[in-house]
Amino acid sequence: MKADLLLTGFEEVVTMADGPIPRTGPAMSELGRIDRGAIAIAQGKVLWVGPAARARASVTLRHGGATRHFPGGVALPGLVDAHTHLVFAGSREREVEQKVRGVSYLEIARSGGGLFQTVRATRTASPASLYEQALDRLRRMVRWGTTSLEVKSGYGLNWKTEQRLLNVIRRLGRIGGPTIVPTFLGGHAYPPEYADRHEEYLRELITTQLPEVARRRLARYCDVFCEKGFFSASESRRLLRTAQGLGMGVKIHADEFTECGGARLAAELRADSADHLLEAGVEGRKALARAGVPAVLLPVTPFASLSARRPPGREMVDEGVAVALGTDLSPNSWVEAMPLVLAHAVYGARLTPQEALTAATVNSAHAIGLPDRGRLVPGLPADIVVMDVPSAEQVAYRLGHGPPAAVYLSGQEPGF
Ligand code: ZN
Repeated sequence: MKADLLLTGFEEVVTMADGPIPRTGPAMSELGRIDRGAIAIAQGKVLWVGPAARARASVTLRHGGATRHFPGGVALPGLVDAHTHLVFAGSREREVEQKVRGVSYLEIARSGGGLFQTVRATRTASPASLYEQALDRLRRMVRWGTTSLEVKSGYGLNWKTEQRLLNVIRRLGRIGGPTIVPTFLGGHAYPPEYADRHEEYLRELITTQLPEVARRRLARYCDVFCEKGFFSASESRRLLRTAQGLGMGVKIHADEFTECGGARLAAELRADSADHLLEAGVEGRKALARAGVPAVLLPVTPFASLSARRPPGREMVDEGVAVALGTDLSPNSWVEAMPLVLAHAVYGARLTPQEALTAATVNSAHAIGLPDRGRLVPGLPADIVVMDVPSAEQVAYRLGHGPPAAVYLSGQEPGF
């Protein structure tokens, strides 16, 4: 086959080509590097990857095909953001002042602010406005190198708005942009109007909303905020078991503020991922490792929440947990740039720069059910990020270095 496009001139190409999926332990440091590499693309897929010196002998460009030189750069698989709340209305910059003065996320939420402020704004926003606001963020995420992402509903907390959010997510997935995996998070919190009727809301999720989400294939995963004052482990179990019974995958916002059984529940259910895990103790973490449940760490969130805690990333890698990464983009931690997440994975969660790259590519892709993403291998979609740095290590090492030199979605520069 002939190539449509040849990318060349790189100091190195990170392929993530070899090794188990997901990667754990020492395998998280093996990047499948090719020194002075090149990548050939045909019909949106990777056709060939190898040393640039062999490109001429291995690939021919079709008539009208193009070559692009990136002297001194590094090519990586497109970054995969495994946890976002992309679709919401409004913003909460005024909360930063409260946080600076020592008010916690949970205290802000308990007084009707935070999450509940976003719920109010989201319920009253029009579908067109929700779509436009999310699209604007999505474009910026892609400019920062995200080529696949998970997107949750969860700021509706009533069926009418949750459906609207899932429809916006579906629409965003059909514009020829990044690959989007939708998740239903009706269990983000108990809605204020159900403050004294938790059981009633949980039953509505289980008997009405979830079956409808599954029937209409509005989401691939069901997620729940398993936390003291939100959904208990036993309530989360009922919801997620129902989702599994309906053929959906499950995820858990687990042990973010208190250790309340989220990690252990994720292991018990063989969840598709357990996310946050800031307070997950050694027993919960080891249960995840044994069950083969990936941990999606969101290292910007404690930073943006002014928390003194750091995600136990180093511990998890050493304990054999498959670590993945996400932005947790939301009005609480408004981060669109995965390179910033990589930096926090290193400086906050204490992964090595190599482990952080593995986490944000092949492992994140696994955590959101995209086995053909996160690697540069012939036959797979050509989702590629070119960073303007001389080595793979420098991607996470340099803070706020600037957006990638180029991003390719299935071999094309973003046109949406
Ligand atoms: Zn979240």
